[in-house]
Amino acid sequence: APILCLDQVEVIYPNGTVALQPTTVDFEDGELTVLLGPSGAGKSTLLRTLNLLVRPTSGAVLSREIGTLDATQSIRAHRRDTAMIFQQHQLIGRMGAMHNVLLSRLGRHSFWRTLVGFSEEERRLALECLTRVGLFEKALTRCDSLSGGQQQRVGIARALAQEPKMILADEPVASLDPASSERVLNVLRSICKEDRIPVIVSLHQLDYAKAFADRIIGLAGGQIVFDGPPTQLSETV
Ligand code: ADP
Ligand code: ADP
Repeated sequence: APILCLDQVEVIYPNGTVALQPTTVDFEDGELTVLLGPSGAGKSTLLRTLNLLVRPTSGAVLSREIGTLDATQSIRAHRRDTAMIFQQHQLIGRMGAMHNVLLSRLGRHSFWRTLVGFSEEERRLALECLTRVGLFEKALTRCDSLSGGQQQRVGIARALAQEPKMILADEPVASLDPASSERVLNVLRSICKEDRIPVIVSLHQLDYAKAFADRIIGLAGGQIVFDGPPTQLSETV
């Protein structure tokens, strides 16, 4: 069964912009899916709808774990299951990498917990997640002294610490140089293949999509215009 589905989902923003035309699409286990399209195509809207940061104007979002996502409780559980990674990683610069990784687990008690300190178990989890993204040795380094690519990988470690069932990454390499971009995409690919966490990542670069995706979903004007493996794209483009 698919892990997550959109069933005839349409998104119209309050100002009347149709960001996503009625769209039906399934996401499967084990796949790295790239949402590919130019700026304004609807990639971010589609990702945010999958996580229900954006509510569909019509249609339904369905999760294998939870079913139809219409109750506030189930939406909250779904948001925990689908960790979101943003272009602006929203780290707290003056805090160390390990603290940033653990923040998502602390929620509204984070202020007090950073004063009191973390448990042995929390520290172990944070170090595991940082090791996973190749940043074990930066655990105590302030995030504002890390490079852009390293910060993005701390963002991925923070998503992993949430122990998600799926990872959604919105243009995670848009502001990175090619070497850092490839490193970040390699980390996402290994999380998908080795940790068996399906990843959906939006990109606007065709070459990265071809190199890293199992499946490419092409978006234009709020519509899916292509859906298939990268090999099929090479034949049509
Ligand atoms: P992409 O991620 O591919 O750049 P978006 O999903 O951000 O595309 O945007 C799709 C369309 O919706 C664009 O025309 C954009 O200007 C518009 N849009 C995005 N967010 C909002 C919003 N909060 N209010 C109104 N229009 C928006
Ligand atoms: P909040 O409490 O944040 O206002 P609600 O849980 O009341 O959010 O939902 C806001 C709106 O979004 C409701 O009108 C609901 O019908 C719609 N909605 C929520 N989840 C879904 C979904 N999975 N598919 C379609 N519409 C949804």
